[in-house]
Formats: sequence, structure tokens, C-alpha cells
Amino acid sequence: MRIFLAGHSGMVGSAIARQLSARDVDEVLTRTHDQLDLTNQAATATFFADESPDVVILAAARVGGILANNDFPADFIYDNLMIEANVIHQAFANGVTRLLNLGSSCIYPRDAAQPMREDALLTGPLELTNEPYAIAKIAAIKLCESYNRQYGVDYRSVMPTNLYGPGDNFDPIKSHVLPGLMQRFHYAAQADAEVVEVWGSGTPRREFLHVDDMAAASLHVLNLPKANWDDATDPRSAFLNVGTGHDISIAELATMLAEVTGFEGRIAFDARKPDGTPRKLLNVSRLAELGWTSKIGLREGIAQTYDWYQKNVA
Ligand code: GDP
Repeated sequence: MRIFLAGHSGMVGSAIARQLSARDVDEVLTRTHDQLDLTNQAATATFFADESPDVVILAAARVGGILANNDFPADFIYDNLMIEANVIHQAFANGVTRLLNLGSSCIYPRDAAQPMREDALLTGPLELTNEPYAIAKIAAIKLCESYNRQYGVDYRSVMPTNLYGPGDNFDPIKSHVLPGLMQRFHYAAQADAEVVEVWGSGTPRREFLHVDDMAAASLHVLNLPKANWDDATDPRSAFLNVGTGHDISIAELATMLAEVTGFEGRIAFDARKPDGTPRKLLNVSRLAELGWTSKIGLREGIAQTYDWYQKNVA
């Protein structure tokens, strides 16, 4: 099988690449951003025509934390719409019958009932801090569903909760909360600082999934037989949540990161920074029924990620 892994150098793409190479049965096609700009329609069309992959895994996206989404909304919506429209359409136009599209749990309404089920999609207004990104990710699900309906292809989507792990972006401003705080606590512990600032009130609750679990779930879903996978009650909803089924508050996460990094000072909350959505926990029972549950516990995953961070980033 020739698999085009779009976004192979990102956090999720590189975790999927590790698992594909350990399995060693497929030929994996990759292109760096410099070699192929997936926002460019002509370049993407030429690539698909030249390489004719059998299967596509779409892990390429512009991603970032709450402030990056707030500050660069045009980049988040434009780049993601272009990448997904180009890749999904060119996959179809070049005979790809199986594709896996990676999305995000921010597709769900801000006030969706928790834990959020797949059928909560498009039932209410989105969280405003990442609405442009979420709209692009909803469009990708709908692209897949529409090509399935109109052309009978098998394009599936997975919607992961907040991901973390090796290869994450630890930038103090643009990153997501877990890597952002890991770096902040690390430097504070090294410097014996008295206080670390955590954004917002500390009360929002989030669910965190290790990227190696996400990679395993992605390959599990890609390989599910079709009959098993379609929801008989709604043939359009060809997407699945991926998470752990457990959430913790940002304050609890901060305490855990302080312990792992050895920070012994005080934790302060900066109420001028946005909290975002109050709670984001996925209902993962559909994927569990289809045979996959997460394996890596949060404390274990954070310790492993901190080890990687110290060796590769710090
Ligand atoms: P979200 O899950 O889309 O809201 O994205 P984030 O991972 O960026 O933020 C999650 C929550 O963590 C929000 O309530 C943030 O205010 C809070 N948070 C606390 N400290 C930080 C930090 O240093 N960086 C980020 N990105 N979020 C933080």
C-alpha cells in the first residue's frame, strides 16, 4: 500500500510515521512543507498525479493554542480550508478510495452536553476563541462526508481531544496549555523562581491524550472494516471522537506539571488571559465499541514527554 502521510513532521504526523515504520508493511510517501505547499492547489494536484497514492492520511494543519487562534484567525481558517480542500479533492480526483482526516474536538458547540458525543456537531454556537479553526475542521468532515455520499469513496475522520507528547510546540505564547506550562515550569524550576503564572482562572477542564495513543487510534480507525464503521442510524456521520474519557482542571494540570518538573514555588492565575470553553471532554464510547481505548495514563505520559523535552528542546 502506498500511503501519503500529509503533515509527517508535525506532532501527530511524526507519531503516525513512527508506527507505520515499525509496522513496515506500507510504502509511506512524505513531503516537507518546502517541497510541497498543500495550500497551493496546482502544486497539490501535480503531486497527486505524479505519485498516485492508494491511501491518504491528512495530518497537515495549521494548529496553535488559545492566543495564537485569537491573534491569527485568518491564517487558521484560510490555511486549513485550503489544505483540506486541496488534499481531499485531489485524493478523489486521483482515485484514492480510502482517506483518514484528522480534526479536533473544538468542532463541538461551546455549550455541548459533556462528555460530547459525535451527534453534538452543529447543534449550537462554537467557542469564539477558536471558531475560525473549528469552522475549517467542520468543513473537512463535511468534505469527506460529501465525497462519500456523491462518489462512494471511504473518507473517515477522527476528532482528537487536546493532544500532547514528543514533537509538540513548546512556544510560551503560541502553544497549547500542556507544553506551554511544561516549558514555563521547567525554566522556573531551573531558576528556583518563586512564582509561575498560569493563564485564566484555572477552572476550565480539559482532556489530554498522548500523541502515541492518537497515532494508534488513527491507524485503528483507518483499518476498520467499512460495515463496522458506518453508523447505521446516520450514514453521513463518518467521524469518531478520540480521547481518554477523563478530564482535569487547568489548576490540577499545573500542579501535576510543577511536580514532574520539580518546581516548588507558588502557582498564580492570570485572569486577564482567556479561559476559553469551560469544559471539553469527549464521549469516546463509539470508538470503544469499535475496539480501541487509550493506554497511556496522563502522569506517565507527561513524565515521558518531559523526558523527551529535556533531551530534545530544553
Ligand atoms: P483550548 O483547549 O482550545 O482552550 O486551548 P489551550 O490548550 O491553549 O488552553 C486551554 C486552557 O488552558 C485555557 O483555559 C487557557 O487559558 C489555559 N492556560 C493556562 N496557562 C496556559 C498557557 O500557558 N498556555 C496556553 N495555551 N493555555 C493556558
